[in-house]
Amino acid sequence: MTGCVPHSPPDVDETTSRPTRPDDATIPRAALTPMMRQYRELKRRYPDYLLLFRLGDFYEMFFDDAHRGARLLQIALTSRQKGDGGVPMAGIPHHAAHAAAPPRATGSPHEPAMPPDQKLLFKEASPPYTSAGFGTVVGQLHETFVVAASDEEVFFIDQHVAHERVLFERLKAELGSGPLPSQKLLLPEALELGPASHALLAEWLPTLSTLGFSLEEFGRGTFLLRAVPSLLKGQEPRRLIEGLLEEVGPARHSDAPPPERALAFVAGRAAVKANQPLDRSEMARLLQDLSAAETPYFCPHGRPVVSRLSLREIKRELRRTW
Ligand SMILES: [Zn+2]
Repeated sequence: MTGCVPHSPPDVDETTSRPTRPDDATIPRAALTPMMRQYRELKRRYPDYLLLFRLGDFYEMFFDDAHRGARLLQIALTSRQKGDGGVPMAGIPHHAAHAAAPPRATGSPHEPAMPPDQKLLFKEASPPYTSAGFGTVVGQLHETFVVAASDEEVFFIDQHVAHERVLFERLKAELGSGPLPSQKLLLPEALELGPASHALLAEWLPTLSTLGFSLEEFGRGTFLLRAVPSLLKGQEPRRLIEGLLEEVGPARHSDAPPPERALAFVAGRAAVKANQPLDRSEMARLLQDLSAAETPYFCPHGRPVVSRLSLREIKRELRRTW
């Protein structure tokens, strides 16, 4: 796959002050891999464009385009080793192509100028990795924080509380159209509870049944747990109910209405934990969902979701004036 962004010719090699060649013709055609030959071929058709080839997760430029692109986009110039000797190359991660390359190269944030047959490329590369509110995924830190960046800010997002917020809002919306999906336990769990816990559970029974718990009174001081919300099906049933009672019990002060308090518990238990590796598409999805949330900045318990740094501040500190 290929894509193009225009540059402003002619370019001058700053180290030698000589004009750069339109194509690196000094490397014999026979010495190049088929892909490099194809690159040259396309370059002849579009001499005025920077040509980007999709290679794995990167868009790469080669030959003189690599020199121009590296200067234009402030990226590192590298060298292609396998089979192509010293062909210079420079690349940008494909998920950053929309955010970084076209706007910086063309001055237009939305419509990079490129041959019509190449337009599709940038459109299809972008959606899985962009999100309105929290920029583009950079990576994961300590398997706990999603690091993302926009043109103005760097975001550190706590993956657990972010997911908790997303699940909470999704479940709340689902509850509007009926009880949440429920998963039957293979063996019902008998829960012998003290009087206070028993009374508390009895009081919460109607709410819990809408969330997918199935509980019935079973003799003195005992409840039989027959089903749990599908989202929590892997969890140890007794500890689940103990945690739930702790969350909705009198020790926790909360102004939230009862269904929301129980829902916050379900969301918290179902959410991705800290110290859990996420792949890039999972992180991008989380950011997208979080951006779409009504209240993206706090979890249902009030914990903050995101810490942000201003790139302007970083640049000021590093005395970078451009
Ligand atoms: Zn929370």
